[in-house]
This record gives sequence, structure tokens and C-alpha cells, in this order.
Amino acid sequence: MMKDCLIIGAGPAGLSAAISAAQNGVDVTVIDEFMKPGGRLLGQLHEEPDHVWWNGIEEAQKLFDEVLNQSIDLKLGTSVYHIEKANDNWLVHTNEGIYRGKTLLVAAGAAERSIPIPGWTLPGVMSIGAAQVMTNVHQVKPGHNGIVIGINVLSLAIARELQLAGVHLQGIVLPPEHLLTKGVSHPMDVFQSLLHLTHLAPSPLLKWGGLLAGKSAFIQRLSLQMYPKNGFKLWNISVQMKRVVTEIVGHEQVQGVKTADLTASGDIVPGSERTIPVDFVCIAGGLYPLVELVGVAGCPFKYIPSLGGHVPIHDERMKTPVDGLFVAGNITGIESAKVAKAQGHLAGLSISEALGKLTENAEIKRAIEHIEKTREKALIQFHPDIKKGRKHMETIAADFQKKEVSGQ
Ligand SMILES: Cc1cc2nc3c(=O)[nH]c(=O)nc-3n(C[C@H](O)[C@H](O)[C@H](O)COP(=O)(O)OP(=O)(O)OC[C@H]3O[C@@H](n4cnc5c(N)ncnc54)[C@H](O)[C@@H]3O)c2cc1C
Repeated sequence: MMKDCLIIGAGPAGLSAAISAAQNGVDVTVIDEFMKPGGRLLGQLHEEPDHVWWNGIEEAQKLFDEVLNQSIDLKLGTSVYHIEKANDNWLVHTNEGIYRGKTLLVAAGAAERSIPIPGWTLPGVMSIGAAQVMTNVHQVKPGHNGIVIGINVLSLAIARELQLAGVHLQGIVLPPEHLLTKGVSHPMDVFQSLLHLTHLAPSPLLKWGGLLAGKSAFIQRLSLQMYPKNGFKLWNISVQMKRVVTEIVGHEQVQGVKTADLTASGDIVPGSERTIPVDFVCIAGGLYPLVELVGVAGCPFKYIPSLGGHVPIHDERMKTPVDGLFVAGNITGIESAKVAKAQGHLAGLSISEALGKLTENAEIKRAIEHIEKTREKALIQFHPDIKKGRKHMETIAADFQKKEVSGQ
């Protein structure tokens, strides 16, 4: 059966798009390989600065209720493995057969980067996202006494979630320096990347310290030199910017990690090596947009590090240069769930417009403004230069369009 619109991904972006499109009379099918709707929302639990908790399971339920309310067709447990275009329509190949649509929105989200570390194949070593899914989605503790390797916004947020679930953490430490850990293994690089997160700090002292250090290279160097060996405590979890894990050890499963202290300039302090016993290890290497499906659909890409890597070219209305192909959410750049939801809302409107079911431009304009406001207020910023990255993409999309129009 031919649908007006197929949406791949039932995360906040895909579900919001389905809702706003359906509200405009678009006949939508949403496809997702997981057995529950919500995408990565299902693992999220954060306390906002105003002390209100962001409970991803509740947010996913609200979207799901609206999907039911709009009688949107939702295919769960359905994995997409190929996309093609025939006679101007999209054919989406899945393990449950082929779906057909006039327009296609890909909202497949993001994936985690791994960091190779000696011993990382031992049972008990997992990505930080896997620990989040075990703990918050399946309600199974990943272990009793763990350590997190990789200091970034996601590892800080999930470490807090593990702590709330009653899991003990030895701390959050750095990965060893090698080709794949450039920018995330040197104490100064990590220190600078954390300065834009000082608003997350639970104590006013850390907040003010961060603001002050952010303004001066001298204060940054001094702060790092004085930074305690055992780290500072965030929610009582020690964040150790001057400690590195050099190896994960164990016989049939993780039994410990070998660590060493680092100087402010990133050199190992001789004689500081020791083994810390742990029963699980989380590796946090950051996120990148999951773009393979849009690649298969023929969409061109641009590499923009502040958006998380290779991203599909798209304009501010979420439209790609491929006719009838739209994108929304983390596939367009790594940001928080609230931004993904706002982008999904806009994509649903753009799809309605493309299908001739929405003529009111003002609604689209409001949706674009809403994304910007949401980004402005987002608690979790994965990259400090996200706004520059978004602007860069807008320019690329505009140039692309000009070339297409002039036939170059
Ligand atoms: C491991 C991890 C942890 C995260 N934790 C947080 C956090 O704590 N807080 C936060 O603000 N942000 C977090 N994020 C960022 C998060 O991606 C956004 O918050 C938000 O969920 C993005 O929404 P989305 O709709 O773009 O993608 P998602 O929420 O990721 O949804 C994408 C959906 O697409 C489906 N999908 C993908 N490929 C296919 C396919 N081939 N076939 C069928 N279905 C497919 C997936 O099953 C998924 O349900 C996390 C991201 C990851 C990867």
C-alpha cells in the first residue's frame, strides 16, 4: 500500500514528525527496529537546572499517546536494510517486507564511537550507552563496581544515572593516548571541552570556577596544574582528568583496570601505575550521526565535526537535495532529545507542505524559531560549536540549491 510518508525511526524526531504530519492530514507509517517507541529517550533521566526531572520514559509515553491518538501506523520490531526509489516513490526494504511512500523521512538517530583499549574485548566491557540501556531500559545493573573511560557530556550524564540506580563507580577517567583518541585523551583538551558544561555543575563554586577559567588561558593552565590527582567530585563521582586507564585486565571477565596518573601536560607520572579492581568498564567515545540509510537513499554529505561527523546535506526545513527525502534529529547533528523533537515537528510540517497539505508558511517559520530557542536553552550540549555547525550546513545547503538551479 502506498503511503504519503514513511518515517524511519520512532525516536523523538521520528514520532514528532509523524504527529505534526498526521495533524495536517498526511497518511504516515513509522518504522522502528526496537520493540518500543521512543528511541534513545527511553534511557534518559536528567535533573534540569530548575530541579525538574527530565524522564525520557515519560516523554516517550507522551509522544506514543499522541501517535495512538492520531491513529498513526507504527511498525515496531521492523529493521530497515535498504532504500530505493522507483517511479518517484520510495521503497523501504525491511525484515517485514517492502513499504512504499511518496516521501521519506530518515530519523535514525546516532551511534556511539568506540575507543580501542588493551583488554576491551573482555566480557564486562561495554559502551556507556549500553550501560544506560541495561540500567534504564531493561532495569538490569551492568555490575556493582565500575569505572567509566572517557570524559564527556554523555559519560557525565550516564554516570549520574548509574549512581541513581545504586551502582558504585570508581570514577570517570581518560582513555590512553593514540591515533583514535586525539582531542579526548589529553588533560587540557578535556578540561577545555568541559568548560562549556559548567552550567551542569551542582555546586556554585564549580559553576563560577568554570566561568572564570573559560575566559583565560593562564587560569586554565593554572587550574589544570592545581587540579587534584583524585579529581573533583560531581554528584560525588570523581572526575579524574589527570588519570588514564592503560589496560583493562581479567581472565574470563573484567577484574580490574591498570591506571596511571598524568601530569598537566599529559605525561605519565613514573611510579604512579596501579590496578583498581572493578567488575565492569564503560567506554565513552562520543556519538556520531547514523547516516548509512540516507547514504543508500542517494543523499550527499558534508563532514562537519561540530555536528558529530558526516551529516546529510539539508536545509533549515529539514529537506535534503534528493526530491522527497527529509531528515531530522541526531542524524543531522548530535544534540539533545528536545532539539530532536523540535526538528521532527518541523520535518512533519515540511513534508505536509511538500505534499500540498500545508500552505501556511508562518507555521513553518515558528517551528524553525522553536528549534533555535530549544537549542539555546538545552541543558545538554554535545558540542560547544553546534550553532556554527548548523549555520555552516545552512550555507552549504543554499550553495547546493543554487548550483542545482543553475544546472552546474
Ligand atoms: C547511546 C546514546 C545515549 C544517549 N543518551 C542521551 C542522554 O542521556 N540525553 C540526551 O539528551 N541525549 C542522549 N542521546 C542523544 C540522543 O540521540 C537524543 O537525545 C535523541 O534521542 C535523538 O533523537 P532521534 O529521534 O534523532 O534518534 P533516536 O532517539 O536515536 O531514535 C532513532 C530510532 O531509529 C531507529 N532506527 C535506527 N536505524 C534503524 C533501522 N535501520 N531500521 C529501523 N529502525 C532504525 C532506532 O531503533 C531508534 O529508535 C544519546 C544517544 C545515544 C546514541
